[in-house]
Amino acid sequence: NSAKTEQSRIRYYVDGEDEEYLARLQLLDELKDAINEDNGDLFFNYQPKLDLKGRKVNKAEALIRWINKNGDFVNPEVFIGLAEQSGLIVTLTRWVIAKIIEQLVEWHKQGYSFKVSINLSAQDIQHPDFVDFLLQKVATNDVSAAQITLELTERDLVENEELVVERLTYLKSLGFEVSVDDYGIGQSSLSKLKQLPIDELKIDKSFIMKLDQCEADQDIVSSTIALGHKLGLSVVAEGVENKESLMLLNDFDCDLIQGYFLSRPMKPEDFLEWYDNYEITAVPLD
Ligand code: C2E
Ligand code: MG
Ligand code: MG
Ligand code: MG
Repeated sequence: NSAKTEQSRIRYYVDGEDEEYLARLQLLDELKDAINEDNGDLFFNYQPKLDLKGRKVNKAEALIRWINKNGDFVNPEVFIGLAEQSGLIVTLTRWVIAKIIEQLVEWHKQGYSFKVSINLSAQDIQHPDFVDFLLQKVATNDVSAAQITLELTERDLVENEELVVERLTYLKSLGFEVSVDDYGIGQSSLSKLKQLPIDELKIDKSFIMKLDQCEADQDIVSSTIALGHKLGLSVVAEGVENKESLMLLNDFDCDLIQGYFLSRPMKPEDFLEWYDNYEITAVPLD
C-alpha cells in the first residue's frame, strides 16, 4: 500500500516534469519565431548610468524585453536562461548586437552619443565567429568600439579562461570596454580579477538594494569599491533604489550608479526624453 502511494507520487512528479519540459520547448520555439519575425515583440529598454564624479549621464545598459504573441511579458532571466541552455543564445546575441548598433546609429543621427553596455553570455564570447561578427558590425556602421561595453559575469569570464582572456584582451585593445556583471555573487576573488582584461566592476544589486539598511552590505560594498580602485577599475553599483544608498555610494567613492532611484529601464524614445530633461542638480550628492 505504502509502495503504491510512493509510486503515484513518482508518477505525478514525472508528469509535472514533462509538462514543464514541453512548456520550455514551446517557449523556445516562440523565442526563435520572435527573433526571425523581428516584428517588435523583442526590443530593448535602456537604463541610464550616472557618473558620480563627472556628474553626468552618458552611459546606459541595454536590457532586452519580450512581449509574446499573447501580450505577456516574459521575464528576461527565464528566456535568456533557456536560450543559453539550448544554444539559441548565439543567434539571439547576434540579433541583440545588430539592434543595439542600429540604435546607436539612430541616436547619433539625432545628435546623441551614448556608451551602451551589452550583456553577453559565456557561449557568445567563446563562439569562433564572435569577434569577427562584432568587428564587422562596428566597421560597417557609424559607431566606434569605444561606444560599446561588453558585460559578462564572473562565471562567464573564467569559463574557458585562456580563450576568453585572449579575445577580450584583443577587443579591449580595439577600444571596447569590458565589465564584470553581478560581481560578488560568483566565486572569484579580487586577486583573480587582477588577471582579467577588464575595465569595470559592477557590484551585484543584492548588495546594493538595501544598502541604506544593512551595515554588512555597506562594509562589503565600500571595501569592494576600494579594492576595485586599487586594481584600476571603474566601479558601478547596480540596483540603487533610494537616495540614502546613493549618498552612501557617493561617500564610498563609487564611480557610477544605476538603479530605479535614477530611472527604470526605458524605451529608446523615453530614454531620450528623460535624458533631455534630466537635472543633475536633482541628485543629492553633497
Ligand atoms: P543584469 O545584466 O544584471 O541587469 C540588471 C538587472 O537589474 C535588470 O533586470 C534591471 O532591470 C534590474 N535593475 C536595475 N535597477 C534596479 C533596481 O534599482 N532595483 C531592482 N530590483 N532591479 C534593478 P532585467 O532587465 O530583468 O534583466 C535581468 C537579466 O537578464 C540581466 O541582468 C541580464 O543578465 C539578462 N539580460 C538582459 N538583457 C539581456 C541581453 O540583451 N542579453 C543577455 N545575454 N542577457 C540579458
Ligand atoms: Mg548587465
Ligand atoms: Mg547578467
Ligand atoms: Mg547585473
